[in-house]
Amino acid sequence: MEVLATIEKNDLAKLLGGDEFGSVSRSTRTKIEKLETIFRELVNPALYYQHLEIDSVEKGAVLLEEGPKFTSPKLSKTMKDCDEIICYIATLGENVDGEIKRLMGQKHLAEAYILDAMASVAADNMVATFHERMKSEYENQGKQVTICFSPGYCDWPITEQKKLFSMFDSNELDVELTDSCLMQPRKSISGVFGITPFNSNQSTHSYNPCLECNQRDCSERRNSAF
Ligand code: SF4
Repeated sequence: MEVLATIEKNDLAKLLGGDEFGSVSRSTRTKIEKLETIFRELVNPALYYQHLEIDSVEKGAVLLEEGPKFTSPKLSKTMKDCDEIICYIATLGENVDGEIKRLMGQKHLAEAYILDAMASVAADNMVATFHERMKSEYENQGKQVTICFSPGYCDWPITEQKKLFSMFDSNELDVELTDSCLMQPRKSISGVFGITPFNSNQSTHSYNPCLECNQRDCSERRNSAF
């Protein structure tokens, strides 16, 4: 699927320690402008997804009809009313990673840090855009989508990346898994969200575990129900 990898400036400012883009120093803004041109030349975004049926949702696990069982109590609680699931893998391609490494190798550490932050924001934005697009598509069919979950975050073990990747044809993916289940290129995001058949008795929002979680410093916190 074609999805743009755009950089939301206020999100970037937050990653760089500011409140909004206007609060970023002039020298950092100059660096961002230069790096943005490089980023646009190098980025090669791709997003792959599979639409799959859920066989059953147990306490602590989601079993897909195709076989894998995703083990995460919070994921299973969110998915309890879902009968379909979307598995996705998004990447910015290897050239951005290569440029970050090159800048680090040349000791341009500030530029490397900023480009890394820009790539993180762009990858997140790419997935958010995809999620919004699917939300509208399913709403038109009278269905709802849940919030997203990724292996390696919250209570979903990173080793479950292997199960998620097993749902894709590796020959068609530009993303690989290392032995420690990290993705290459590094600026890639994998995850899932569920699809709930709409029923007026159900809540209009899917369950969001973050709203009742005490881990205040969690960087993956989702502040709103979707
Ligand atoms: S705040 Fe973090 S740890 Fe808590 S439920 Fe959300 S993602 Fe999981």
